[in-house]
Amino acid sequence: MNRVETKGIVLYNRPYRESDMLVKLFTETEGKRMFFVKHARDSKLTPVIQPLTTSDFILKLGQEGLGFIEDYRDSKTFVAINEDIFKLAFATYVVALADAAIQDNIADPSLFAFLTKTLELMEEGLDEEVLTNIFEIQVLSRFGVSLNFSECVVCHRVGMPLDFSYQYAGCLCPDHVHQDAHRAQVDPNVIYLLSRFQGVSFEELRTISVGPEMKVKLRAFIDQLYEEYVGIHLKAKKFIDDMADWGQLMHRD
Ligand SMILES: [Zn+2]
Repeated sequence: MNRVETKGIVLYNRPYRESDMLVKLFTETEGKRMFFVKHARDSKLTPVIQPLTTSDFILKLGQEGLGFIEDYRDSKTFVAINEDIFKLAFATYVVALADAAIQDNIADPSLFAFLTKTLELMEEGLDEEVLTNIFEIQVLSRFGVSLNFSECVVCHRVGMPLDFSYQYAGCLCPDHVHQDAHRAQVDPNVIYLLSRFQGVSFEELRTISVGPEMKVKLRAFIDQLYEEYVGIHLKAKKFIDDMADWGQLMHRD
């Protein structure tokens, strides 16, 4: 077996047989892989195989199939995220999205860095909804979806109020919106924000602030994009949608 040392984050775990556990890790250098943990409840590994825990792992990898966690150090949990059901719901969704976006056993260190940074910023107290939107927009490329929200797909002009066209799989400026009668009719500010989200750096993430009304519009349009171009339905996303419904119920009171 091949022995490697890598940073990793627990995507999820599930019981296996009577007292064992299967743990899915997303590692920096080995991609996503499943690991077998014997007697998971009284193992020294118990604290580090909980979802959303990051560690420097020493792993044993077989040619195929399951690997083993030999040791770990510098284990970290996201305390603030775990204490807040809203933050936890968004963090869980972002992790599930990363899991869905790439194949097992293929390294993707940039997605790994982006995922862990997104979680660190949620932990730090930055807006989890906006961070989730940015993650959703940037991870689209991993699903093979490439959309340009900064220019008109016909004349390539930038800096204009743009609408989105599913027919053209791109944006249309005021001179060319008439070319698609069934265009999305999105608030141009939503398109503008998506163009910023596409190119945003970690440092800039701290400076982005979005009002509640715009958040609702962003959520609705990104949902449409995912329905049209990605077509996955994650349980973690359903939970967020249900949570929004509880919010509305509370507002009606
Ligand atoms: Zn144009």
